Amino acid sequence: MSRRMLLALFVSLSVGSLAVSKEWVSGIVWPEPKVIEPGTNGSPPSDAIVLFDGQDLSQWKGGEQWTVENGYAISKGGGISTNENFGDCQLHVEWATPDVVSGSGQGRGNSGVYLMGKYEVQVLDSYQNPTYFDGQAGSLYKTKPPLVNASRKPGEWQSYDIVFHGPRFDEHGQLLRPGYVTVLHNGVLIQDHTELLGSTAWDTPPTYQAHPERLPISLQFHGNPVRFRNIWLREIPDLVAQRPE
Ligand code: MG
Repeated sequence: MSRRMLLALFVSLSVGSLAVSKEWVSGIVWPEPKVIEPGTNGSPPSDAIVLFDGQDLSQWKGGEQWTVENGYAISKGGGISTNENFGDCQLHVEWATPDVVSGSGQGRGNSGVYLMGKYEVQVLDSYQNPTYFDGQAGSLYKTKPPLVNASRKPGEWQSYDIVFHGPRFDEHGQLLRPGYVTVLHNGVLIQDHTELLGSTAWDTPPTYQAHPERLPISLQFHGNPVRFRNIWLREIPDLVAQRPE
């Protein structure tokens, strides 16, 4: 068969299949996704709740013990907790451990992002600083180490982008569904829909105790002057569809 005949055959087959094929549609009626302005370089999207923009800690309880200067807040004494309660969310936090290294292991640049005040994503200077793996930066504390160590050097700004789905309990306090945490550290996936086993403590195994679906987010003070900036959150929207009968 000549090339011309082959081409003619191909075209006629293609046109033929176009003529008989029919687009599949689900029949589900979706609402239009809300139009938002995405941020740039970690800045908040237009639908974010800004928790700290470098000016003050008015969105937090306990901030009077911390220092705000040069667009960041420094942990100086006591943890801080958001005034508002939050549940399932996308949370962006930037942090930097001290550029002058002091201490080692858990004593070096330790802080933490506590989802619902109970579930800690560890903040630590984990640049050439060995400690137990499920306690290094990006671990779900004493639950699971990060998939990789994506830490920057001491003093450099780092970011966490966290996707959190809180646990659910029934009216008797029984666990219906565990919580799940996904974390990008400096843009790198380090926790992939990791199951929470309960609240993360230093001295007890993770255990669930029933709590509301919305609670404050906390930042830990662990004796080290860790800096924070550009903290924002988006509550995870749900697209409610109308489904065919
Ligand atoms: Mg900590």
